[in-house]
Amino acid sequence: MAAAYDAARMRMVRNHLSARGLHDARVLAAMAQVPRERFVDPGMEEFAYEDSPLPIGEGQTISQPYIVALMLEAAEIAPGDRVLEVGTGSGYAAALMSRLARKVHTIERHASLAQQARARFAQLEYDNIDVHTGDGSRGLPAAAPFDAILVAAGAPAPPQSLQSQLAIGGRLVIPVGDEGSVQELLKIRRTGEDSFEQENLGAVMFVPLIGEQGWAEDGRRAASRHVPATARGNDTASLIAEHAIPLPDIDDEAFAGAFERYADARVVLLGECSHGTSEFYSARAAITRRLVERHGFTIVAVEADWPDASVVNRHVRRLPARPHGAVFARFPTWMWRNREVAALAGWMCRYNEGREYEQQVGFYGLDIYSLNASIEAVLDYLDRTDPEAAVIARERYGCLTPWQRSPEIYGRAALRAGHALCEDAVIRQCRELLDHRLGDVDELQPDRLDAAQNARLVASAERYYRVMYYGGAESWNLRDEHMADTLDQLLRVHGPRSRAVVWAHNSHIGDARHTDMGQSRGEHNIGQLVRQRHSGETALIGFGTHTGTVAAAHDWGDEMEVMDVRPSRSGSVERLCHDSGVRRFLLDLREGHDETLRRAMSEPLLQRFIGVIYRPATELQSHYARTSLARQYDGYVWFDETSAVQAISGPGTSDEQVPETYPFGV
Ligand code: SAM
Repeated sequence: MAAAYDAARMRMVRNHLSARGLHDARVLAAMAQVPRERFVDPGMEEFAYEDSPLPIGEGQTISQPYIVALMLEAAEIAPGDRVLEVGTGSGYAAALMSRLARKVHTIERHASLAQQARARFAQLEYDNIDVHTGDGSRGLPAAAPFDAILVAAGAPAPPQSLQSQLAIGGRLVIPVGDEGSVQELLKIRRTGEDSFEQENLGAVMFVPLIGEQGWAEDGRRAASRHVPATARGNDTASLIAEHAIPLPDIDDEAFAGAFERYADARVVLLGECSHGTSEFYSARAAITRRLVERHGFTIVAVEADWPDASVVNRHVRRLPARPHGAVFARFPTWMWRNREVAALAGWMCRYNEGREYEQQVGFYGLDIYSLNASIEAVLDYLDRTDPEAAVIARERYGCLTPWQRSPEIYGRAALRAGHALCEDAVIRQCRELLDHRLGDVDELQPDRLDAAQNARLVASAERYYRVMYYGGAESWNLRDEHMADTLDQLLRVHGPRSRAVVWAHNSHIGDARHTDMGQSRGEHNIGQLVRQRHSGETALIGFGTHTGTVAAAHDWGDEMEVMDVRPSRSGSVERLCHDSGVRRFLLDLREGHDETLRRAMSEPLLQRFIGVIYRPATELQSHYARTSLARQYDGYVWFDETSAVQAISGPGTSDEQVPETYPFGV
């Protein structure tokens, strides 16, 4: 077990620290040495090397490894230093400090936590740490001065007492911000008797510093000092106001006109910061129409299942329908079964009317969740074209039959069996179809394109459900690779001059390398892959909002509800956009445009991601992530207030106007 923790610790140092730009060799060596699993509560050891805070009792947390390492690096601790930590918690950060400094004092207000930390240090034989119980917001005058002070709890302002207990040249690293919001991590260096220099290291989230120079227990500011609004926040909001390109109503021609600047790209990816916001659908539809009508885009590829999208594609191109069940009937139905998408399908019908097939616009699905429907579609194609081959395909796909109803449990069965049960069968089926029948498919053969793509999807889905069982980044990556590969197939099939618009969530289309996803979880996404594969030919456009309503569920499979979107948090991209005072705008974030804005918006900031699930009560933990907006997107579209998408009720329910014939009945 110890070896497994050692390996996990090394992985943490590599993936969560070095890969994210931390490079102080002494800090990294300490992080590689101190066993974090010994500082978490019993039962939580397996999570010790995830880059996240964990609960430790008394309602407190052990801090996230990346943030601890960032603070240690900022504190510039030298081997002969005498240092203070305020907020001992589990003792983990103090243990790390003890590997870097000569003497560590650490102070904790909860006696039980202090006692537990003391015991841990004794067991590990870390004997240069003194643990004190008390209010650390006042510092520890008896042991001052300190070469470095680290505060592991958020203060309303940097406490005077701590600044005065720094040696000249000493460093105070402390999170500062309003109660209940994110904080800015400040590094304050004492340069003289009365002089200090201050640096802002970015947004962080800590529990509050409770004490005389921190917050009172009831959340009110204990010390009556004035905290100036952070200069950076105000400056950036005015910078946004200055550079924002105001947008008119979505229906106004000038709305889509503002996106002409991206029309040179071969692939334009349009995001959304929730799956249930009307404005994001209507805005993307307006931009898509413009790109199709004026710039020859003929592929609209969306984060939906291929077989369902194919029904819509056939409908908008007046192709004979193939047998199919209700369209977009899988949870979350409102994502594609809504009036906004139905209106787009209606427009596509009218646009395609009378046009040559190659000039028409097509509608395609990029996602991976249609194992059953895709198997059915391949078999249907073979039944019609080669019944003998259909018999063989049936036998091969039969391997998956036991799990077809709940493919998520296929992974466990494969793990038990010790091999990838159906991998050979589905890959052989896919290869055979592509090598001998469908490899040369072109866009004029929709039946063959459907069959080829469904066979690919079955092969990807078999692997997806297998790796999903292990959790982690691999299943996310596989899904986004499948989406990027499907897009590339579409571009290839439609010829060298083809151009595509992609609709998917911001988490898929915003370049993952510049978010927590990529930097700490090793995830990539379609935005990143398309940028890498089609360098210089892509435009990634994110969408955001401050408040309003959204269609979402509280849990997977729950009923859809229209929920209120909480006003955005301070310290977030959204709050800065809101504070700009401009209600609807576009930010052009491409390189070479507005470099001042790009620089400011490249700083790490929180960004809100609402998916199918929205949990307003735990919004900060479940829906915000750190991102660098200007690196993640080439453009960012802002609607200060938004409303829920207009869902069309699901099959089997009685929506008089829109029965099971969606999208044809609308
Ligand atoms: N450094 C800790 C670790 O590595 O586990 C994490 C600390 S936790 C985020 C913050 C700690 O600060 C809590 O244990 C909390 O009780 C403590 N705290 C809050 N206000 C304090 C104060 N005025 N004096 C001392 N400790 C305080």
